[in-house]
Amino acid sequence: MDHELIYLDNAATTAVIPEVYEAMKPYFTEVYSNPSSVYSFAGKAKKPMEEVREKIASYLGAKPSEIYFTGGGSESDNWAIKGVAEAYKNKGKHIITSKIEHHAVLHTCEWLEKNGYEVTYLDVDEDGLISLEELEKAIRPDTILITIMFANNEIGTIEPIQKIGEIAREHGVLFHTDAVQAFGHVPIQVDEMKIDMLSASGHKFHGPKGIGFMYLRNSVKLGALIHGGAQERSRRAGTHNVPGIIGMGKAAEIMIGKMEENSRKEIAIRDHMIARIEKEIPYVKVNGHREKRLPNNINVCFRFVEGESLLIMLDQKGICASSGSACTSGSLDPSHVLLAIGLPHEIAHGSTRLTLSEETTMEQADFVVDSLKVIVERMRSMSPLYDDFVKENS
Ligand SMILES: *Cc1c(COP(=O)(O)O)cnc(C)c1O
Repeated sequence: MDHELIYLDNAATTAVIPEVYEAMKPYFTEVYSNPSSVYSFAGKAKKPMEEVREKIASYLGAKPSEIYFTGGGSESDNWAIKGVAEAYKNKGKHIITSKIEHHAVLHTCEWLEKNGYEVTYLDVDEDGLISLEELEKAIRPDTILITIMFANNEIGTIEPIQKIGEIAREHGVLFHTDAVQAFGHVPIQVDEMKIDMLSASGHKFHGPKGIGFMYLRNSVKLGALIHGGAQERSRRAGTHNVPGIIGMGKAAEIMIGKMEENSRKEIAIRDHMIARIEKEIPYVKVNGHREKRLPNNINVCFRFVEGESLLIMLDQKGICASSGSACTSGSLDPSHVLLAIGLPHEIAHGSTRLTLSEETTMEQADFVVDSLKVIVERMRSMSPLYDDFVKENS
């Protein structure tokens, strides 16, 4: 029997909402004009595009002139970090980030280290939170940027963004946050939170792939990452991805409008699943902060179970899950995030990430937990380590 597909990998990507797809359609075959051209046909693309800019700005408490359309989260992260490094190099060459950032941030920082910059990678506690005291201690006269993610894509922990923003502002250091997992899912206000730069990506909130944006405070002087035409105030060249921008705008509108309702639904299912897993499966560890957590994230380590094998068995039941970040699968190293929260290698290897959407149902949740119970038990019954462990502890 073919199983219904149960998609619990919404941190990797999300489905485009049908209404979003409908909104995009005319911009392929009918309103296909280049919004930068002068004739009125161009205006038919430019006007709705600018409306998206205004809408996104309003959701963040920003000005439309502070929203730049980019090719997604990775590009926005690269631009923010490399852009500040270049524009502020006369002030200093020191950057502060955390050990649990997405690779779009970490690998960009590592690249800068090879090019004469110094980077401090802050530790996190067992819940994945950075320490504000350590952050403050790490700031030096030559620190030009603090880049700390809003919410972690693997364990769902939400960082104390407003407090980080306050510390950055007090010390006159720019603050960028990778909000790819947060935008459209949890409330964000850039002024209140003292955020200077923010990255977001359409496909993480039910928009299309390959489109994102960066919020860039007007007072930040940043050069271009992509050079070429005069699009996006000459700061991001390239003909606009009009259908993508329209789709991202529609998705933002829907997700911001239903944020509270979606969160409530997801939190109920998330907490139900976590409670059942902890009660019904022995030797598990739930990763990430219990409350300061994305509404849709579950990350669990099953001891004596290999995460990758578990994924294959779940797949046979039509369940899509992840064993950490999609970018790290294919390598055998455990996730840098799980190591940073202090998990030993052998436990980190048994981690599974389940990320819900507002479409996930309680029935699906129960089917997944029922499946996990059976699969974990079967895998453990084949594990000599588990066998030894049970003998020692009985
Ligand atoms: C997915 C993701 C990115 C990358 O975004 P893309 O649009 O896929 O390039 C960056 N940071 C975080 C936290 C993510 O989850």
